[in-house]
Amino acid sequence: SGKLAASYEASKPTFSFEFFPPKTAQGVQNLYDRMDRMHDLGPAFIDITWGAGGRHSQLTCEMVNAAQTHYGLETCMHLTCTDMGKEKVDQALQQAYKAGCTNILALRGDPPRESEKWKATEGGFRYAKDLVSYIKSRYGNHFDIGVAGYPEGCDDQDDVDLLIDHLKQKVDAGGTFIVTQMFYDVDIFLAWVKKCRERGINVPIIPGIMPISTHASFQRRVDWTRCHVPDAWNAALEPVKNDDAAVREIGKGLIADMCRKIIDAGILHLHFYTMNLAQATRMILEHLSLTPTTSGSPLFKPLPWRQSLGLN
Ligand code: FAD
Repeated sequence: SGKLAASYEASKPTFSFEFFPPKTAQGVQNLYDRMDRMHDLGPAFIDITWGAGGRHSQLTCEMVNAAQTHYGLETCMHLTCTDMGKEKVDQALQQAYKAGCTNILALRGDPPRESEKWKATEGGFRYAKDLVSYIKSRYGNHFDIGVAGYPEGCDDQDDVDLLIDHLKQKVDAGGTFIVTQMFYDVDIFLAWVKKCRERGINVPIIPGIMPISTHASFQRRVDWTRCHVPDAWNAALEPVKNDDAAVREIGKGLIADMCRKIIDAGILHLHFYTMNLAQATRMILEHLSLTPTTSGSPLFKPLPWRQSLGLN
């Protein structure tokens, strides 16, 4: 019956994909083609990142518009306040609004490559929470506002407890969901979620999942984010590190196991950092039986993501 299907679907995890604006026109076209194909996997929404220092920012707006209006994908636009005055933030929000986008991930932003340390722009924003308050003050409840969470510290702050305080401030300012930095140690992530809950952070927490494509890119991202890699993962990946196909296959299993533990803990939405590539993410979803063709029902369609997260 419809009711049964609904309850089945309600317990079925949903997922989303993150993309970034490519550097070339050809890259943009390739990505649109890929988005079109990945649409069939049934993501609840997709994210388009915001270029550091406002670079590629116009492209972000264009891609949000294309994804939302042309490809019919619910889209979340990342927006940073690094190197940007209020008028640029206003323009970006207006464009998102006009495109029918109702989700913004509000961020401070990475430091622009040229300068080592982040510094506030005059007349601009200092912290992500300021951007959250601003969006709320201008648009009320139009946008769901996501904020970033760091289970293992961020570039300029290793103190996880202090970061949870700052995360709470972002939620109190109007953040309605949290997307985390990538991690590979699920125990660290789950302990962190518990801490957030104990600290009174009650909005949905979406784990950021980084698939493994090659050993070199895996190692680079681990070094960059300084996230902990369980010993068993290194033991499994090291011996095959020069064999990309083997790395992807083993990586798929490791990530899928991690996703299962997350789902078993009652977190029913997974956010994939696709790095604009489809294969590794698709392999994980197939392994988890979360793609439409493997779900057993050709009519399978995930719940609207707000509903799957308990948002109204
Ligand atoms: P904030 O929450 O403002 O925190 C920044 C620093 O300020 C932290 O050290 C924090 O502890 C400190 N802080 C916050 N509040 C206070 C306070 N009241 N008093 C003192 N210190 C305070 N970057 C991009 O450029 N484009 C993207 O699209 C992008 N997408 C991302 C998506 C996700 C899911 C994540 C996790 C990160 C993303 N980033 C992106 C990177 C992000 O911009 C950087 O990690 C940035 O350095 C921090 O951004 P934030 O929004 O977490 O900042």
